[in-house]
Amino acid sequence: MINKTRLIDEFIELVSVPCPSKDEKQEAELIMAKLRELGLEPEMDKAHEKTGGTCGNVWAYVKGTVPNAPKLLFEAHMDSVAPTTGTKVVRKNGVLYSDGTTTLGGDDKVGVAAMLEAVRALKEDGVAHGDVQLCFTVSEEIGCLGVVSMDQSWIKADYGYCMDIGGAPGEITYAAPKLYDIYVTVKGKAAHAGIAPEEGVNAIMLAADALSKLPAYGRLDSET
Ligand SMILES: [Zn+2]
Repeated sequence: MINKTRLIDEFIELVSVPCPSKDEKQEAELIMAKLRELGLEPEMDKAHEKTGGTCGNVWAYVKGTVPNAPKLLFEAHMDSVAPTTGTKVVRKNGVLYSDGTTTLGGDDKVGVAAMLEAVRALKEDGVAHGDVQLCFTVSEEIGCLGVVSMDQSWIKADYGYCMDIGGAPGEITYAAPKLYDIYVTVKGKAAHAGIAPEEGVNAIMLAADALSKLPAYGRLDSET
């Protein structure tokens, strides 16, 4: 059985550790200690050699009790949007908030906490299950760097679930919009403000003019 009090306490413990993108080491060590308490043997990959961060992705394998069941992978990211140092959780009407000086870190410690509690409940209740792989990734918030830098041969599962979206229990998101970054440099033209101001070209006005002529932005259609 999922223990709600334990789940919330563990969530609060997880968010109280600073974990900005590229510096998730403290969080990773806390998660690895918890995995060891669950009788698992967590390993860290070398994603940080590519990301330049302080640690890699954390992996653990929960051996199943049902042979030939599909192997499932659950993933959540360890980093949160800064500021993440000194997070104090405030409870109001059964909802958890930060005290306003930091982010709460619910994105994505809810996923981390849910995965830990699920494994704990599986073990306590002796639930029959197939092999389960856990993956806690780094630097999601700055472009999914942990996943991009991952050695995919570490993935042993047949199916994977990413625990990083809001919604009711049982709801599954299976598609998301793509993001394109477009960098444009707009150059104006200098002119003397007193002698020949009409010869000047204002770069901001030009950029605004171009932006205002974009065919569409924001929600493009029902699924974009
Ligand atoms: Zn997230």
